[in-house]
Amino acid sequence: MDPYDVTIVGGGPVGLFSAAMAGMHGLRAKIIESLPQLGGQLRALYPEKRVFDVAGFASATAADLAERLKEQAMAYGPAVHLGETVLALEVLARGGFLLGTTGGSHLSRSVLIAAGLGAFSPRLLPAEGAERLQGRGVYYSAPSPATFQGQTVVVVGGGDTAVDWAREIAGHAARVVLVHRREQFRAHQGNLGEVRALGNVELRTPCEVVAVAGQSAVSAVRLRNLASGGEEEVAAQAVVSGLGFHAQLAALKEWGIAFHGNAIAVDPSTMQTNLPGVYAVGDIAAYPGRLKLLALGFGEAGLAVARIRSYVHPELSGSLPHSSALETLAGRTAVG
Ligand SMILES: Cc1cc2nc3c(=O)[nH]c(=O)nc-3n(C[C@H](O)[C@H](O)[C@H](O)COP(=O)(O)OP(=O)(O)OC[C@H]3O[C@@H](n4cnc5c(N)ncnc54)[C@H](O)[C@@H]3O)c2cc1C
Repeated sequence: MDPYDVTIVGGGPVGLFSAAMAGMHGLRAKIIESLPQLGGQLRALYPEKRVFDVAGFASATAADLAERLKEQAMAYGPAVHLGETVLALEVLARGGFLLGTTGGSHLSRSVLIAAGLGAFSPRLLPAEGAERLQGRGVYYSAPSPATFQGQTVVVVGGGDTAVDWAREIAGHAARVVLVHRREQFRAHQGNLGEVRALGNVELRTPCEVVAVAGQSAVSAVRLRNLASGGEEEVAAQAVVSGLGFHAQLAALKEWGIAFHGNAIAVDPSTMQTNLPGVYAVGDIAAYPGRLKLLALGFGEAGLAVARIRSYVHPELSGSLPHSSALETLAGRTAVG
């Protein structure tokens, strides 16, 4: 197994910008992200909200920012492992690191932890039969909407993610039933208005899914009205749940890295942790005066990549050449 120069734990905005910086300066980078998508909090927690304090963008939705960051990072061709959570970090006696994940193991010369609030995983649908039918009609992130061609699909949740999925799926499905446990949706009212106007979407509130039925695949979904207690059976082929995410930090705390509360203590002049060769940036990093801001995380990414470059290539200095002085883009840069 050929070790990567740097393995980035977390594909949120700061992990993505770190991957771009690493690639730009000639490092072979790999991103490991627990969710099946990149973008971290931008995509998982507030995709439709507008952000006004990222330099160069007067305003952009969080989802758009995530897309731009992804594009910038992917231009340098990092390896990307989605749906894989890093569980263990071993310092190797011969130098370098072995990362153990839910999908296997990865060798790396250095490690950059950009784990934010922790590894995101979807909140599971608390309904009878949902676990058994996961992946066979029960989904926690919407596959391509075309998968649902001609089907009846139950979408669960009251935020923008669920409402967006309902709209996209309605473009292909015969019928979409959008279920939310409160009368009021948290989603942007404009979004909700668009969905209400679609002829094949029905809203069920205040309702929850109590059971998912089917032998080898979903065939029906039982809903309960929380106001009346009445139940309804909907013949459906899929349930797409958008109930949000949990963030899990427990595994990271076992890696021998010094924590300060729920964040990793770093030297702010290098972003290095107490383990030489292991760096932390973004919301997971702690030092006096740190703020949870994208702008700060992007600066830390530059600082960390400069130090990682000289850690991996000790003959190089700890500062970075200006990108405007590099023959960039994508793969045309070389360390030097
Ligand atoms: C509602 C809201 C509004 C905000 N508005 C603004 C704003 O206007 N301006 C601003 O500057 N900031 C804002 N922020 C803060 C900003 O979103 C965060 O500072 C930023 O997302 C931090 O980026 P990150 O990459 O460090 O972490 P995250 O975005 O949390 O990404 C970390 C990623 O790492 C993954 N991960 C963690 N552990 C593991 C593991 N062990 N294995 C694999 N993957 C792992 C997670 O699944 C996640 O995808 C807002 C935050 C919220 C919640």
